[in-house]
Amino acid sequence: ASAQFDVVIIGAGASGLMCAMAAGQRGRRVLVLDSSNKIGKKILMSGGGRCNFTNMQVEPEHFISENTHFCVSALNRYTQWDFIALVEKHGIAYHERKHGQLFCDDSAKDILAMLVNECEAVGVRIRSHASVTEIAEKPSGFTVHLGQEQIRCESLVVATGGLSIPTLGASGFGYEIARQFGHEVLPTRAGLVPMTFSDGMKAVTERLSGIALDTVVSSHDDAPSFHENMLFTHRGISGPSILQASNYWQLGQPVQIDLLPTSPWGEMTLSDWLIAQKKAQPKVLLRTLLAPFLVKALVHELQTLLWLGEAEKPMADWSDAALKRVAAALNGWTLRPSGTEGYRTAEVTLGGVSTNEVSSRTMESQRQTGLYFIGEVLDVTGWLGGYNFQWAWASGHAAGQFA
Ligand code: FAD
Repeated sequence: ASAQFDVVIIGAGASGLMCAMAAGQRGRRVLVLDSSNKIGKKILMSGGGRCNFTNMQVEPEHFISENTHFCVSALNRYTQWDFIALVEKHGIAYHERKHGQLFCDDSAKDILAMLVNECEAVGVRIRSHASVTEIAEKPSGFTVHLGQEQIRCESLVVATGGLSIPTLGASGFGYEIARQFGHEVLPTRAGLVPMTFSDGMKAVTERLSGIALDTVVSSHDDAPSFHENMLFTHRGISGPSILQASNYWQLGQPVQIDLLPTSPWGEMTLSDWLIAQKKAQPKVLLRTLLAPFLVKALVHELQTLLWLGEAEKPMADWSDAALKRVAAALNGWTLRPSGTEGYRTAEVTLGGVSTNEVSSRTMESQRQTGLYFIGEVLDVTGWLGGYNFQWAWASGHAAGQFA
């Protein structure tokens, strides 16, 4: 005879554990299965080991989805304050960093331990090394196959996450289950991911690798822009502003980078300031003028890329129009990445199970009674800053009320 549970959850990650806890608290008999040797690997790896578990400001515009309203209901019913209360109940010390990001003082392990303790308190069973190979529908429920072993359940929750970082247990199995039950799976791509170059810019970024600077980055005119640090790497560009912009970037699009987002010249624009320097410092070279505000190595590269022909001209000899062009190029440096580092280093996966046939209130499939999708496997992706976990908690909690 096969084992029988009320709820089987596939994936013991952020959303799966939250769902298990919530369903267990309703008295449901819950089993969580994870194919990895260790559960919650992404929680442990997150936020540089300190887990950026949520954010003080959570708004729908911090999430990307084909259906931008889908996330609202769950986020309103399980808020950042609910999660913070849970963290405080467990005595986990935390702190706020910029942009409202909340991190553990000590370790991401505390968050995982908290979820596991909550699950154990309500009798949830959690198994690692348990790779689900097949799902079969049966009257009023499902049979979950783990190789030879079979487990029966009334409700089945798919919490398998996205494709990012295969070494942390990511698999496309959740998408397969969705397709099996007739759900549309939107094309997936790596998000919160560094961008790469294959042209001459590759050598430039390599020479500049290690340099970080304050920037405002946007991927296209309709996308939000992000005022954060950017980092040059051996392969291209990274850092928070680039990771954020990558969520809105598609292959072939340019990226716009403001290299001098905060004016050191008070009210003056860069272009007005440069023109004023023609009188103030007529003999000086443009690169000398810019050196205090941008790293020297970067100015050197920009000179080659943007104004090589006029590099040796003293300021007095520059035309206003040419200086305006330089200012525009520095405030809107346009790069054309050839790609991203892909799922190998991406923090999240964009796209996934379409929200169109999933209830935003319960996360239940509208095609198959008793089947639920939560977390990153769905076509909901958050910004950098604790938003992806908040979505995992909120969607997991929503399903946990009904599964
Ligand atoms: P996951 O947490 O990925 O869990 C899915 C689970 O399903 C895994 O344990 C996996 O082993 C299991 N699984 C997969 N296939 C099967 C199968 N066939 N059978 C059984 N089990 C299976 N977000 C933030 O908000 N803040 C951060 O600080 C942050 N840092 C991050 C750092 C890194 C390096 C990465 C990669 C991501 C980070 N994220 C962060 C994103 C966040 O980790 C994810 O969005 C979140 O974990 C998604 O939760 P989930 O429950 O949907 O999936």
